[in-house]
Amino acid sequence: MSERVGCALVTGASRGIGAAIARGLAQDGWPVGINYKTDREGAEKVVSEIECDGGEAVAVAADVTDPSAPEQLFAALDSHFGTQVLVLVNNAGINRDDLLPSLGDEEWSAVIETDLNAAFRLIRRALVPMMRARTGRIVNVASVSGLRANPGQSNYAAAKAGLIMLTKTAAVEVARRGVTVNAVAPGWIDTEMTAGVAKDLLAAVPARRAGTPDEVAACVRFLAL
Ligand code: NDP
Repeated sequence: MSERVGCALVTGASRGIGAAIARGLAQDGWPVGINYKTDREGAEKVVSEIECDGGEAVAVAADVTDPSAPEQLFAALDSHFGTQVLVLVNNAGINRDDLLPSLGDEEWSAVIETDLNAAFRLIRRALVPMMRARTGRIVNVASVSGLRANPGQSNYAAAKAGLIMLTKTAAVEVARRGVTVNAVAPGWIDTEMTAGVAKDLLAAVPARRAGTPDEVAACVRFLAL
């Protein structure tokens, strides 16, 4: 396992895709901050799994929609690992699906806040130290819903499409400084988020199966190299 001079922060890493990404980055030698909002038990379990595997991790609570979350998270990791964040994975996300006539303001705002605005604030916090270090990796977990229309997901689609263009814009702003900013756009992945989705929708997936969190994590690990 290689020695890393910085650490990684994965938001929403207490389960699902974020947990798989965190375990993968730890296998690649990164000390990893496992962010969660409410699922402390899940986050501690991910930390234990990483430690059992010889890696380093710490669970860090913060609601990413809180404007003070970036400062809290970066300070917590700096004090725990004594190194700066050189890999940021904006994975925390929620969906609140409904058709437009009945979609409430709260469902609209909660998704935009969590899936888009929080990523903006974390990217803003991460970039200056990364640019100073002349290295850094930011990976945003978007979705196919940000690329093509899906009835009932206007809030989620708007947030993920916004995240994709935020990613592209950030990438061209910092490309010359050794910092890369990328997004992955998974299709249906088997996690708690998709647990209630009717399985007959898998007929629209070319592989006729859901993806796994580890398959997404493999892409993110590559983008964090
Ligand atoms: P899960 O619902 O399984 O996990 C979501 C994670 O995000 C949890 O760890 C949760 O922690 C955390 N989280 C939610 N809100 C916040 C918040 N405000 N602050 C901090 N953490 C928060 O989802 P998935 O693993 O399926 O999804 C992960 C990402 O992948 C999301 O961005 C999602 O949009 C995206 N995605 C998922 C797909 C899928 O099919 N599953 C497909 C494409 C993209 P806690 O419980 O503590 O709140």
